[in-house]
Amino acid sequence: ALYQPPDITRPCYVRVNTLKLDVDSALHELGKQFKVQKDGMIPHLLMLPPHTDLHNHSLVLNGSIFVQGKASSMVAAVLDPKPGWEVLDACSAPGNKTVHLAALMKGKGKIIACELNKDRAKRLEDTIRLSGATNIEVMHGDFLKIDPKGPFSKVSAILLDPSCSGSGTASQRLDHLLPSHTTDVVDTQRLNKLAAFQKKALAHALSFPAVERIVYSTCSINQIENEDVVNSVLPLATSNGFQLATPFPQWQLRGLPVFEGSEHLLRTDPVKDKEGFFIALFVKKGSVKNPEA
Ligand code: SAM
Repeated sequence: ALYQPPDITRPCYVRVNTLKLDVDSALHELGKQFKVQKDGMIPHLLMLPPHTDLHNHSLVLNGSIFVQGKASSMVAAVLDPKPGWEVLDACSAPGNKTVHLAALMKGKGKIIACELNKDRAKRLEDTIRLSGATNIEVMHGDFLKIDPKGPFSKVSAILLDPSCSGSGTASQRLDHLLPSHTTDVVDTQRLNKLAAFQKKALAHALSFPAVERIVYSTCSINQIENEDVVNSVLPLATSNGFQLATPFPQWQLRGLPVFEGSEHLLRTDPVKDKEGFFIALFVKKGSVKNPEA
């Protein structure tokens, strides 16, 4: 069986929202109550003891820190946008990664945060308000319908974190407790549908003329939503001048070895790392924004 009980010894992570508070002040404040230390790999990410309850903590309530897992915090860090860039977050609500991008860009430049679902777009706006970011433009609409040669033709980086099965997250991994007739066939159909959307969205991202970096991520553990999606767009990526780069080369768990180059991909383990995430980084060859290429 896929499911294993969550490892309760995993730390609790918070990301310091450096638009509102610096890391040293956050360490000082949190250190009054908890044992806290820097993550060491992701800038601005702090580790606290397992099960630390921060939901009503003043720093959370005022947007100075965000409770955000390590795997989720890797995604914007891998895109690594610099202050002044124009960045598109293609599928952005509830906006955890959007406001992380804003912090990495030190509030300078522009982020277009696209979200299809109206209610979720409201949650995105709440997250942005809480973060204090002022350089994010919310676009309520369909990413697939954005004309790559239109008003956003200048974006140089895209974060694509599309709808996925969520099979790498703890709540989804409890699915095995449901009666079996609710899974299997429905699951296969659902996965095929999600994968078809993910491929379309990634191909669309690869078609923006000025884009030099694209991160594709999911919180799924399924090959069909991860390696298969990346593999399917490789011919297009290559003909548009992109190649896969290796996010966090020191990270051990890489993509499933199902095609040549899958060692560039990054996976996190749903049990060991608490969440099963997948990250792929495409970079334009020969571009100044891409030290990896
Ligand atoms: N990146 C977000 C974060 O870290 O908070 C999570 C994004 S969630 C996995 C995917 C989002 O994509 C959902 O809110 C969904 O409504 C939205 N979405 C799905 N299809 C879309 C489309 N065609 N265009 C824009 N957004 C879409």
